[in-house]
Amino acid sequence: MTHTEKYRIGIGGIAIESSTFSPLTSTLDNFTILSGDELSQRYPFMADWVFDGRTDITWMPCMHAKAIPGGPVDRASYSQMKQRLLGRIADVLPLDGFYLDIHGAMNVVTIDDAETDLASAIRGLVGKDCVIVAGMDLHGNVSRELVEQVDIFTAYRLAPHDDAIETRERACHLLLRCLDANIRPIKAWVRIPVILPGERTSTLVEPGKSIFGALEKHSSADGVLDASLWVGYVWADEPRSSASVVVTGTDAATVSCTAETIARQYWRARERFVFGTPVGDAEWCIRSALDSVDTPVVISDSGDNPTAGGVGDVPFFLEKLLAFREFSTDAASAVFASIPDAAAVAACFSSGTDTGLDLKIGGKLDPVNGRPLAVHAVVESLHPGDTVGGDIAVIRIGSVRVIITSKRKPFHFRHDFTRLGITPEEHTIVAVKIGYLEPELRAFAKQAFLALTPGAVNQDIPSLSYTRVLRPVFPLDRELGEPDLSAVIVT
Ligand SMILES: [Zn+2]
Repeated sequence: MTHTEKYRIGIGGIAIESSTFSPLTSTLDNFTILSGDELSQRYPFMADWVFDGRTDITWMPCMHAKAIPGGPVDRASYSQMKQRLLGRIADVLPLDGFYLDIHGAMNVVTIDDAETDLASAIRGLVGKDCVIVAGMDLHGNVSRELVEQVDIFTAYRLAPHDDAIETRERACHLLLRCLDANIRPIKAWVRIPVILPGERTSTLVEPGKSIFGALEKHSSADGVLDASLWVGYVWADEPRSSASVVVTGTDAATVSCTAETIARQYWRARERFVFGTPVGDAEWCIRSALDSVDTPVVISDSGDNPTAGGVGDVPFFLEKLLAFREFSTDAASAVFASIPDAAAVAACFSSGTDTGLDLKIGGKLDPVNGRPLAVHAVVESLHPGDTVGGDIAVIRIGSVRVIITSKRKPFHFRHDFTRLGITPEEHTIVAVKIGYLEPELRAFAKQAFLALTPGAVNQDIPSLSYTRVLRPVFPLDRELGEPDLSAVIVT
């Protein structure tokens, strides 16, 4: 087969989930930036010019930047990434199509709706005839302004996101359908006045399972190209934050009706979105775990979960844990993972194993939600040069093992513990800064509790001080009445 160029399709984007409740700003250093051929690892389907059996597409991978969740992106870092992406797009013009690969919950200091800012700049460059498709995370926020800039949308249909690559491919298929048939889709957008965390809206359980499970069927109806539903990103205090629906297609009545049907289903289910595990404050979770016969009990210190946008060094839960006398009398034992604190780790390395020292742990990166915790600890083991966490120290306070790292490191796998000489099953409690449990943690947990703790991704949504989200919104406001869920048609 030979390659005959019919369509030139650019690809690029910037992706991060930014908690506006985090005091840390995200900078260029937090992003992994791929350009040109490096992008084939993110889009394996584009490695060959044969896509879906056809040979008439020339992919123009421009630039993609991605960071782990964090705080708002500083303006200079964003501008630099945006200019770099625009520069690469300018080099490959003209384009028939552009695949905008974004998360949808980026906040840039002084720019609330960063994705619209980026999409508008790209539209300005590629021109009005270029078809733009956005492939997004369902935890992104979709404003009407974004819908005006983009021709077709699609988003993950699964949380956890096992369909990430499938969604990227689907975005490209949609783009090609529009180019082949010379379609400019009609878009129906509905804002649903609900803001809920991902921990309550998993698609593994009801009601998320059925509502998101129906999107494929809605997408295959006559006159519809794609039906997508966004949970939104709850830790962004921005006017656009909320759940939303976008249905794109060729028949205005059908896309409008489908979007309204999905929006109504989500709205009606709002009270049924609950946490999949028992939830309580830190003391309740610890007491319940200590009273339990089935151990280990894994407790999520959820408000400071670094993989959702938390800073990760709030020692609130650790302080509560150490206050239980069971850990000073050896009646129980616990592991706490983890606190990033480079200075405390360095002090442990200077002191050496089996030595005792006074430390002030955490509360330095996130002084809004935490304060340094003074402890007297024994250095149990030292682990230099972890690829993610840097130098790591395991310290012992009574019968609690505390993992401190020089850089932020999630603890999602069993070997994250065993590598440090810790066998999770030997302990009464394993506390992890995480939201819902990753599969390997779930596998060794005899029971799991989710602790509502302070931090940049506090799960106790009504307790957060929102000032800018559009009100009324569930669950901040309980008496909403029936909201207007009629679709706005954007052509
Ligand atoms: Zn997500």
